[in-house]
Amino acid sequence: MHLISPSKVIKGKYAWDQAIPEIRNLSKRPLILGRSNSTKILRSKLSNDLRAFNLKVTDALLEFDCCQEDLDRLSNILVKNECDLVIAAGGGKVLDAGKLLAEYHLLPCITVPLSASTCAGWTALSNIYSKKGQFIKDVKLQSCPNILVYDHYLISTAPIKTLTSGVADSLAKWYESSVTSSSNKDGIIQQAIQISRVLRDQLFIDGKKAYENPIVDNLSWKNVIEANGLTAGLIGGIGGEKCRTAAAHALHNAITQLEPKNNPIHGEIVGVGILIQLRIEEAKNNNKLAHQSIKQLTKFLKDLNLPITIRELGIDVFENNNLQKIANFACRKESEIHFLPFSITPKDIVEIISEFEKLKIKI
Ligand SMILES: [Zn+2]
Repeated sequence: MHLISPSKVIKGKYAWDQAIPEIRNLSKRPLILGRSNSTKILRSKLSNDLRAFNLKVTDALLEFDCCQEDLDRLSNILVKNECDLVIAAGGGKVLDAGKLLAEYHLLPCITVPLSASTCAGWTALSNIYSKKGQFIKDVKLQSCPNILVYDHYLISTAPIKTLTSGVADSLAKWYESSVTSSSNKDGIIQQAIQISRVLRDQLFIDGKKAYENPIVDNLSWKNVIEANGLTAGLIGGIGGEKCRTAAAHALHNAITQLEPKNNPIHGEIVGVGILIQLRIEEAKNNNKLAHQSIKQLTKFLKDLNLPITIRELGIDVFENNNLQKIANFACRKESEIHFLPFSITPKDIVEIISEFEKLKIKI
């Protein structure tokens, strides 16, 4: 089964206003799910806009992460208020939780990303974490959201690090899919990989311009947010599982286990994961181009003020056996790291990361 995209994508400066008639067609009693204090004003606007049309809106909050405890509590709120639609308005964790909640209750789902930090508003996937943000597993959903509302004004209010972090997460599509699937003979997968290459090139061209001038009327900013929230989702939709993840995301999942002190968001960790993945390819797969890619990507991540080492995420890998813990988790039997076209062991990871963390990369 292919779950390629949401049934409708409403995007642009006035996307939310355009979505209201669609929401009225679908629902009398929507639940609006959010999380952070910083998006409270935006979420009240969404609620009030719907109440103005006599919809009975229930506001609900994610307390921790997209974790089972939160989902159970939110399920009770949803049932008690007889909600007939889930509107998830927030970052990746809120979108993931909203999609799961809708699926548990066989309800339609509308995603309203309030930042350009991930493509979670698009995909038929949710990640489940612990209360403390440690990755547990990903869950494949029965469908993509019914409607994705990608409102440029709402997204422009998000902190800049959500945009840069989203850039790192989108770049991973190319670095991960090209290594895992370049020898795959399936035409659609090859086309998905090529879209991810064009996406990478676009981000290299527009990323810094978007970062320096994050406003709705900056074409580079628009290109970057749509790359992060839409195109990255499409690549996973048409390319399938092997176009999604490899070592960079496996390392992300491992690093979250140690609860990094600087509270990095998803893409900030994934960006470091890509650099380590390239180092793995150089050491284990004799990839002669990897060194040049590491230099190019390191400079780009630094230009966007993104972390480039695990230390910068808030973990000293040389303390508390941290390095071994990361290596063991990244190489679990079910880990995406094994999508790499060569074998990899915890010992390899320990060697590569310890060398990598000591390295002073000169640009
Ligand atoms: Zn990701």
